Amino acid sequence: MSVDSTTPIAPLFTATVPGIARIGANRELKRAVEAYWSGRSDRAALEAVAVQLRATGRRTLTEAGIDAVPVNTFSYYDQVLDTAVMLGALPPRVAAIADPLDRYFAAARGADGVAPLEMTKWFDTNYHYIVPEIGPDTTFALDATKVLAELAEAAADGVDGRPVIVGPITFLALSKAVDGAAAPLERIDEVVTLYADLLGRLARAGAAWVQIDEPILVTDTVDELPGLAARVYRTLSAIGERPQILVQTYFGDAGDCLPALAGTGVEALGIDLVAGGLTGVEAADLSGKVVVAGIVDGRNVWRTDLDRALTALEELRGRVGTLVVSTSCSTLHVPYTLDGEDGLDDALRGWLAFAAQKHAEVVALARAYANGRADQAETFDTAAAALATRVTDPRLHVEAVSERVAGLTEADWTRTDSAVRRDVQRAALNLPSLATTTIGSYPQTTDIRKARQALRTGAIDDAEYVRRMQAEIADVIALQEEVGLDVLVHGEPERNDMVQYFAEQLDGFFATVNGWVQSYGSRCVRPPILFGDVVRRVPMTVDWIAYAQALTGKPVKGMLTGPVTILAWSFVRDDQPLADTANQIALAIRDETVDLEQSGAAIIQVDEPALRELLPLRAADRESYLEWAVTAFRLSTSGVVDATQIHTHLCYSEFGEVIGAIAELDADVTSIEAARSHMEVLADLNGIGFANEVGPGVYDIHSPRVPDTDEVTASLREALAAIPADRLWVNPDCGLKTRTTEEVTQALKNLVAAAHAVR
Ligand code: GLN
Ligand code: ZN
Repeated sequence: MSVDSTTPIAPLFTATVPGIARIGANRELKRAVEAYWSGRSDRAALEAVAVQLRATGRRTLTEAGIDAVPVNTFSYYDQVLDTAVMLGALPPRVAAIADPLDRYFAAARGADGVAPLEMTKWFDTNYHYIVPEIGPDTTFALDATKVLAELAEAAADGVDGRPVIVGPITFLALSKAVDGAAAPLERIDEVVTLYADLLGRLARAGAAWVQIDEPILVTDTVDELPGLAARVYRTLSAIGERPQILVQTYFGDAGDCLPALAGTGVEALGIDLVAGGLTGVEAADLSGKVVVAGIVDGRNVWRTDLDRALTALEELRGRVGTLVVSTSCSTLHVPYTLDGEDGLDDALRGWLAFAAQKHAEVVALARAYANGRADQAETFDTAAAALATRVTDPRLHVEAVSERVAGLTEADWTRTDSAVRRDVQRAALNLPSLATTTIGSYPQTTDIRKARQALRTGAIDDAEYVRRMQAEIADVIALQEEVGLDVLVHGEPERNDMVQYFAEQLDGFFATVNGWVQSYGSRCVRPPILFGDVVRRVPMTVDWIAYAQALTGKPVKGMLTGPVTILAWSFVRDDQPLADTANQIALAIRDETVDLEQSGAAIIQVDEPALRELLPLRAADRESYLEWAVTAFRLSTSGVVDATQIHTHLCYSEFGEVIGAIAELDADVTSIEAARSHMEVLADLNGIGFANEVGPGVYDIHSPRVPDTDEVTASLREALAAIPADRLWVNPDCGLKTRTTEEVTQALKNLVAAAHAVR
């Protein structure tokens, strides 16, 4: 098919989604790949599950009334890794593996003697992608096997699928240069040639449309992005034989990139009207384009206000060539369906929409846009009635909570000067310099898992569960005394997850039974849903910490999750500013710190591993985010007396942008992942005049390798070059729950020995 004008030709469509989940409504893919990895099943069994899941995905969409079905949205692990395979861009150590599937999984998770590629967060979501490595010797070469196969599979099923591929700009911008190679984006022209080749092949294979995902266009991480987008898509739209092109953006406002794309020959533009706005639309002439309007939130779990959505769509009428209704991004990021969530009361259920419900909303909006609201009156009225109760439900607006938040002043999030606190704490705690501690969790033993399982099935009662957890705590305390640590922890055996544990005890949250979403590869998470005002009725952690403290003369740290992390790892209400919600959680945590202090805890750690995660994609939005995030953390930690030492913990991330905020948190002690980033973070902290105490991780807990004393000593000396001994703590770089007791015992012995040697 040849396209020589920018006027879209048939077949047009009215309702679509940029992509769907692939892990399976009951996590079938997770089970299938894990069985395959462990050798419990063979490749044929794995492939059969994949075929089944893709068929179910297509059927789900067509049955919902979606008239343009995306294909190639399936993945055995990750779509960015799939793109690296498609472009022949696997590093030599992996490419050497002969079998394609073994090679693929080796890239994702490593194999004998082959290190996996890195993994990092997909924009500001909790999905993680595999980071392609582009070296000087990377030779790009097109391998269209997967996308052509999925297109053909759909066709055989009677579905004219729209292949979805990660775009060239996004792919290269998310890749990392290795072995001294130049920035991957410098190779854009080479890669665009491959995409041009691919488009020809897709056209010959019968694809009428192709969707090229370019979420990078909503960020400002690349210089001159609009110019680059214009150049790339002018080239791709100029080729003779190709499907019609939909350039799909999501997770924000494509801003100046939208007019830039509008000036190219691509037929369609996908825009996120939930996370973004209409600024790009206003600046661009879209009268000749198909606009795929992402008006149904693909990232959060709330039911769409259909009347409001229709009004927003009406604003586009006349300004765009053809309007197609869609979700704001792939529904990969939300659970499959509300069906089966029988624990929800009717009101709650009425406020929610998971992927299946969102697909139906897209179709209802498309029909109402075409035929008028009356055509969908029943659906619209039902939605409006359900959402009306979301305004009046007493659980959403607890007066005592909003009054308390409204009454907050700076004094509530300000402690005495940190130098003054340090003197008081030193006198009270009397710790050696280079004090040793751990981050919180200890190995998740089979006993712990069995006890949790037994409690769930009713095989044991609460009292027996508590006894078993106490036994675990006693073991962990004994282990820590044996290895000679200075500040102990209880080990967190009672916590299934550091966010869910608190969500289960706070009003305003609820947990789903099957609300799983893919986090990376076969790994899924089940984020709690924060729907109402947050109320802490009773202490949540005090009994456990007090129990642990009673077993030892050494200080035991109270252990809490911070407000920003609780927000980041939950689905969060969208009916009030995030900052207000953060403050509500902060007050609950604050009350808990005060109770812990009263019960005798002299040290309390409030973890914020997700501080970096919520950082907005656009630089202009970052300052206000960091301001409310820091305020919420400080609010949660400023209710205690000067003598109580507040610790925080941050996991590895690109700290660059948030380094100032780390100092602003004003924790007395900050433990931070540094083993893998070679203590660079300490230089950065010094650079901004950070003067509080710090515990850079002295070994990497993510590897089963036990570091010897010399190695820990070396890493400690490296840290000492940046931070004086009286401000330096000695600890691993993260929690120990994924390790075995043997690994942990030996590693901690070596850590303590290193601290003694250096002292
Ligand atoms: N206290 C938590 C633990 O040790 C911190 C986990 C994290 O950093 N993600 O497991
Ligand atoms: Zn961590």
